[in-house]
Amino acid sequence: MSVDPRDPMFHNEDKARAYFEEQRWPNGPVCPHCGSKHAHRLEGKAHRAGLLQCNDCLGQYSVTLGTVMESSHVPLTKWALAFHKMAASKKGISAKQIQRELDLGSYRTAWFMAHRIREAMGIPNDDGKIGGSGKTVESDETFVGGKKKNVHRGKPEPKKHAVMALVERGGKMRAKHVPNVTAKTIKKTLAKHADKASVLMTDDSTWSRTAGKSFADHGVVKHSLGEYVSKDGIAHIQTVESFFAILKRGITGSFHSVSEKHLQRYVDEFAFRWNARSSLGIEDAERAAQMVRGAEGKRLTYRQPDQV
Ligand SMILES: [Zn+2]
Repeated sequence: MSVDPRDPMFHNEDKARAYFEEQRWPNGPVCPHCGSKHAHRLEGKAHRAGLLQCNDCLGQYSVTLGTVMESSHVPLTKWALAFHKMAASKKGISAKQIQRELDLGSYRTAWFMAHRIREAMGIPNDDGKIGGSGKTVESDETFVGGKKKNVHRGKPEPKKHAVMALVERGGKMRAKHVPNVTAKTIKKTLAKHADKASVLMTDDSTWSRTAGKSFADHGVVKHSLGEYVSKDGIAHIQTVESFFAILKRGITGSFHSVSEKHLQRYVDEFAFRWNARSSLGIEDAERAAQMVRGAEGKRLTYRQPDQV
């Protein structure tokens, strides 16, 4: 099922709040201050809607506390729509488009909402490594950024930024903005995100020989010789290449250019959708729900302006 714009949660604030509460607290509210499951609702005109009070620590909270939506003035109906639109979009949505489709007063608000949602799409550091015994992990790097049509004669080409991606065939992936493409960086990133019991697949770039040694086995496709799949059909990095194609199309098509400062968040957005793609049986609504659940606990890692 794709996103139905008529869904009541996109129009009724109470329905939207109920949706966010259901995702965050499937078994009833949990106090973000002390972890207690005993709370009561503070109703009536003296309290803002959705406010709860913990019966144990007496702290007050609502569903947005401690999430990327904390202290936002944007209605929850619009947050719900933004999460769903970003979940359903294959190519990514520009802040301009979000501003228009959510009927937001300012571009700045749309921009910060999109970045907060991207933050919710980031893979937690404790999510473990991909691959493992009997699994194949493809690894490759690419460069993004650098808008060619703005390059005038005599001016240097804009800086391109390196992105490294590791994809387990038939499984999950990790994508990281890396400072450079050197044997040292590649080895370090591989060690952090891929299980050494995996079979590694790379192209025949110079770093790959050393990086491959620490894995159970290493397949090499000889790109330098124009080969895209090895003769036995096993060695290729076409899965990771198809991810890069989606990422690049998205970045140039929807975002035109991306500054280095924010690149990892865009990369996270595309990696998240890949990891929750429809061919794994994950539909748009479930993908949006996974993003909403990822919104918890991200507040502390992302300094946010008060205006949004
Ligand atoms: Zn409490």
